[in-house]
Amino acid sequence: MTTWRAERLNHLPPYLFVEIDRKKKEALAAGRDVIDFGVGDPDQPTPAFIVERMAQAIRKPANHRYSFGTGTPEFRNAVAAFFERRFGVRLDPQSEVLALLGSKEGLLHLPTGVLNPGETALIPDPGYPVYIAGTLFAGGKCHMMALSEANGWLPDLDAIPADVLRGAKLLYLNYPNNPTAAVASLSFFEKAVLFARRHKLLVVQDAAYSEVYFDDPPPSILQVPGAKEVAIELHSLSKTFNMTGWRVAFAVGNADALASLAKVKNNADSGIFGAVQEAGIEALNGVSRPEIKQQFDSYRRRRDILVGGLREAGWSVAVPKATFYVWARCPKGLDSMTTSSRMLAEANVVVIPGLGFGPHGEGYVRFALTVDESRTAEAGKRIAQIKW
Ligand SMILES: *Cc1c(COP(=O)(O)O)cnc(C)c1O
Repeated sequence: MTTWRAERLNHLPPYLFVEIDRKKKEALAAGRDVIDFGVGDPDQPTPAFIVERMAQAIRKPANHRYSFGTGTPEFRNAVAAFFERRFGVRLDPQSEVLALLGSKEGLLHLPTGVLNPGETALIPDPGYPVYIAGTLFAGGKCHMMALSEANGWLPDLDAIPADVLRGAKLLYLNYPNNPTAAVASLSFFEKAVLFARRHKLLVVQDAAYSEVYFDDPPPSILQVPGAKEVAIELHSLSKTFNMTGWRVAFAVGNADALASLAKVKNNADSGIFGAVQEAGIEALNGVSRPEIKQQFDSYRRRRDILVGGLREAGWSVAVPKATFYVWARCPKGLDSMTTSSRMLAEANVVVIPGLGFGPHGEGYVRFALTVDESRTAEAGKRIAQIKW
């Protein structure tokens, strides 16, 4: 029998969330009171000032047509202005800013534009699965870089074998990090830029969580002098502004790499809905508004409640400085699938097993802080009842 399934799909890593997802649906169908820390999707609505701008923009006939291209000049100007205010980095809005239909879309299409078949991408493990998918779909090879708690969840660049480096073209980074919540310092980015220069690599730094922080503002890799020669950075409005459903993000940095990505995109999509770009401008201009700060304060309170609850229950867990994730070591040296299955079975609490982000995520589970304070506190109590 013919199966309409290309060989390349068989090379994707196994989707380990399926099992926990199935059990979650069973629990919900059985009427159990499930507390879900699984999905990395903000639970709060998009702030009203952004929705309001959208409501106006949607009535303009000019927005009803294809928008085409790399983003409207107004959107790209707003990105450049945001970038200069936030990071002190000047960007040419024409050539160094590219609008994306979500950073996931950019990450998937980028290797098709820059990687030749057989060339290697250096990819963090644990990590966001799209770095692997994009590389494989482009016919590239993946070399996984192990992240570890001992190394602050940063890759040990000097541990990458010389023969791998000779065939490598892309180096993926993701800080603030999903799933570990680690933050990279500017000095790590300096090291990465130097390394990329020496080995002729393009750094692809995924900064989807750059604005979700509780401590000092995380740096951009483009703050490193000369970084634009070897790096691009992807930013997203999804997590900062509770806009995951809107599909709006942007890539900045190396003009040549962005032009290659734009060329792929020109063949795949016909631009972001003009009204969404207008709303995106409103969002970027309003990033310092109190409602955005309140949102992060709420993540901070949830974080403190969850970390406090886990520690009382005897878990070893670091306080995240950024992202809305808590990355916690499994109790009693248990593996992540056992831990997450038992939490669902015995406490009706859903978390993501670390193994789902790669072999080096084993031994940890990820909580998303997308559950309100009282339910987060309730989950802490339930977890404390489990007899590991
Ligand atoms: C959520 C997320 C993204 C994707 O965000 P978009 O909605 O596609 O902009 C990219 N990278 C990481 C690490 C994420 O967690």
